[in-house]
Amino acid sequence: MKHFEFIKDLLEKRNIKHSFHKVSSLSIDEIVKSLGIKYSEGLSTLIFRYGGDKYVGILRRDDKNIDSKKLKKYLGTSRVSFASDEELKSIGFEPGLASPLVLDLLQGENKINKILIDESFFEMNKVICGSTSSELALEIKRTDLEKLIPIFERVDIMVPNERRQNVLNDTRKKRILTGDRPTGKLHIGHLFGSLMNRVKFQEEYETFILIANIHALSDNRDNPEKVKQSIGELLCDYYASGLDFDKSTVYIQSEVPETHEIFMYLSNFVSVQQLMHNPTLKTEIKQNNMEDSTPLGFFIYPTHQAADILCVNADLVPVGKDQAPMVEDCREIARKFNNTYKKEVFGQPKAHFGVPKNVPGIDGNAKMGKSLNNGIYLSDSEEELKKKIMSVYTDPNRIHATDKGTVEGNVAFTYHDLFNSNKEEVADLKARYEAGKVGDVEVKEKLFAAMNEVLTPIREKRREAEGKKAELVEKAVEGSKKVSKIARGIADEMKEAMKIEF
Ligand code: ATP
Ligand code: MG
Repeated sequence: MKHFEFIKDLLEKRNIKHSFHKVSSLSIDEIVKSLGIKYSEGLSTLIFRYGGDKYVGILRRDDKNIDSKKLKKYLGTSRVSFASDEELKSIGFEPGLASPLVLDLLQGENKINKILIDESFFEMNKVICGSTSSELALEIKRTDLEKLIPIFERVDIMVPNERRQNVLNDTRKKRILTGDRPTGKLHIGHLFGSLMNRVKFQEEYETFILIANIHALSDNRDNPEKVKQSIGELLCDYYASGLDFDKSTVYIQSEVPETHEIFMYLSNFVSVQQLMHNPTLKTEIKQNNMEDSTPLGFFIYPTHQAADILCVNADLVPVGKDQAPMVEDCREIARKFNNTYKKEVFGQPKAHFGVPKNVPGIDGNAKMGKSLNNGIYLSDSEEELKKKIMSVYTDPNRIHATDKGTVEGNVAFTYHDLFNSNKEEVADLKARYEAGKVGDVEVKEKLFAAMNEVLTPIREKRREAEGKKAELVEKAVEGSKKVSKIARGIADEMKEAMKIEF
């Protein structure tokens, strides 16, 4: 305990940022699992006896093993062994409870003769190490830890720990990031484009769902009330589509200011010209009549979205096809950042498309959109659904039921393909439509039946969600705190890479 007090005092006096994490076991595997860290972020303090009665303290990154031959050669002796429990106690450590922060003190007291730090230590950013308490692990920045061990010998005596290195990527689940702008209620485009995949993947992936209220303000700045209200609507839609709020982390963009910081750092890796040529952005600027005056906040949203994706280092991004260029840009930005600073801060997030093309609007627009007034919403009543289906865009050149019609680009058939599980019925309708042997009404009535079957349980679950809105908002605020912490870690790694941390 005396060493633990010493460590706490030392960190406070030197004003060094750190945190203690509760652990329930001293096993490295357990600690890595329970804290969700990588082995390469763990650091063990090992004490060896050598040359008779001398002791050496060695810092070992937990994805490495000490190569005993190299160690013996370095120490110039053939006799090196782990210090026994008795020997550890005589030095002042409880077995299994050493900490790098006490090594300097022990060296000063001549209880250990040397401190060896391996090369691999200097590649670390965040370090999780012992605190001399059996219940707490210490998190500290490697550069700060280095300052607290003024006298040591830098060595190259480690080999990879194959087992741990093999599971390096398994220590945390792969991550998903995706989300929506709170600009209204969600529609069937969202359902197929993204929502269904979120539900499908929520067990396998650690899932983060972003409610992008800052993005929403970029073309709704005069309507903050709508954006605020829409947060509740999105939460109900998520719940209705089967998202489990205990498995997935739903969060609110404005509650994670670290993403703005990360955006700023990333913005050096994308050019204005690249954004100007982004096809989705171009279409949206046109649709919003912003060609003469595009708010900067709207113009930069693809890069800000890259910050959203990278702030949790997401692996998979389930989105609609309109977002393909955004995810592509994000991958390029991540690659450029890593290459420029020679540090693998980011992985390569992959887009995952629920449907090969955006779900079209009921008006025939290639994309159904919340802000385009052409959607069938998950919250629509049966009557609204029927009314919308009856007005769905079909083949504009077909006047009579006996005219030969076109199925390609016919929105009623696109919806049939998505919703109607009776594939024979769909094939029959298509054949008769092309032959001029079926009227729009029959096509649409059958479409209504198929869609209503899928949407009824969602509609009912959504009604249930309405009564839980406050609870869901609270979960999203909680989720934001979790994401904020992860994003802080990423922002700090970026700062270190860019040499702007002090
Ligand atoms: P807005 O019109 O306000 O931009 P939106 O309907 O485009 O709203 P967003 O919140 O911008 O919805 O997009 C959320 C996610 O839903 C994105 O991944 C987007 O690609 C996907 N998405 C939106 N519309 C469709 C659609 N029609 N088909 C498939 N996916 C879609
Ligand atoms: Mg959109």
